[in-house]
Amino acid sequence: MNYRIVSGIETHIELSTKSKIFCGCSTRFGAPPNTQCCPVCTGQPGALPSLNMRAVQLGIRAGLALHCRISPRMRFDRKNYFYSDLPKGYQITQYDLPLCTGGYVQLESGRRIRIERVHLEEDAGKLIHQNGSTYIDYNRSGVPLIEVVSMPDISSPQEAREYVEQLQLIMRYAGVSDCRMQEGSMRCDINISLVKDGEAGTRTEIKNMNSPAYIARAMQAEAERQRKILLGGGRVERATLRYDEASGRTVPMRLKEGAEDYRYFPEPDLPEITISRQFTESAGALPEMPHERFERHISLGVSANNARILCRYVAEGAFFYGCVEHGADAAKCSNLIAGTVFALITDDDGREEFFKNFPPEDFARLVRAVTDGKIGTTLAQGVLEKVITRGGAVGDYLTAQDMRGIDDEELRELCRAAVAADPVAAADYRAGKLKAIGAFFGYIKRASEGRADIPAAEAILKELLKN
Ligand code: ZN
Ligand code: MN
Repeated sequence: MNYRIVSGIETHIELSTKSKIFCGCSTRFGAPPNTQCCPVCTGQPGALPSLNMRAVQLGIRAGLALHCRISPRMRFDRKNYFYSDLPKGYQITQYDLPLCTGGYVQLESGRRIRIERVHLEEDAGKLIHQNGSTYIDYNRSGVPLIEVVSMPDISSPQEAREYVEQLQLIMRYAGVSDCRMQEGSMRCDINISLVKDGEAGTRTEIKNMNSPAYIARAMQAEAERQRKILLGGGRVERATLRYDEASGRTVPMRLKEGAEDYRYFPEPDLPEITISRQFTESAGALPEMPHERFERHISLGVSANNARILCRYVAEGAFFYGCVEHGADAAKCSNLIAGTVFALITDDDGREEFFKNFPPEDFARLVRAVTDGKIGTTLAQGVLEKVITRGGAVGDYLTAQDMRGIDDEELRELCRAAVAADPVAAADYRAGKLKAIGAFFGYIKRASEGRADIPAAEAILKELLKN
């Protein structure tokens, strides 16, 4: 029987402000517990909030990056509920006058996941479960958040994953947040229901997902659970779930409150705010956004696959365009980064650091040496490895001898020697075992001391080995 997944995602994103949304406390991550709080963010009687306008500016940038309409008027409201991580007994959020409305995130297929709204709110404290006790760290309470609410346009686990990854990238490019899901600065709640013959089922919600891969898996597991219930003639209960990574199942947390249970009402300690055109402009223009950078890479001759990999890093843009300006061939440059550099630096932070710190003119010099035929790709890879692991510059590891290059005739000579040295591989190749050609590369690399360009050698070998 055909059930269709209908899903919307609510994403909480911590804004990159220095101080909290309603007080001056620091938002720095990783400080000792309860060292960054004050009477306002811990809800002491009589303490009054005052709005951090930088948070509003970043919220506006988020809205613009998501193609939203920025509201001319917005208001804060109290969402009342009791939980130990919420000392005030209510969260200051926005209910019917949010900062931004409308908008979308475009997937690579061209499909748009519509955004219903983006509103500002404060984060709650963090519960730490340790040795059978629960501790509360209020450093996080009052950290500014935006909540990005999508329309129920997501129809598969893959789309959910892509939406979250896109949203993360867009927020990073816009300078709104670092969106570190592992540190909790981006968290997703996923609504899922199954629809059959146009009839929508009851939806459930999976809370606090902190990895795009788990989001896809959790959605798959929950859709499967609901499908089994429906096929068995049962009814899906409205529920809040969490995803248990160990068992790969969704498990109930508590029954879901309706909006009416929160008794939203306007926050009396903060005025309604008019957002002027000038204020919106003060939030600053957006830089090149992910899909624009992707398109620009393609137009420079980078493969779609490389462009997808490279554009995941914010600092990559300035670096890459710098290389191209200094004469590097874009396709070759992207191959060296996606292949060699990313094989040497495997963590995302390290890669961002590389793009920030490696001088583009130095990288361009290496790429030019390859495309000018002075050195082979293998030698270039070796030089990169040395620069990255030992420090220094490209020039420190490229001798005049290296830069003397290998001309076509010398390369052809090397290829002939390689074939002569391994008649078995030559016979295999001629007999149709095309992989046997790899046997000659080692010889050519050694004999040329890494200077030979292997793709060029491959072309010559194919010609030599023609029957
Ligand atoms: Zn505070
Ligand atoms: Mn929220």
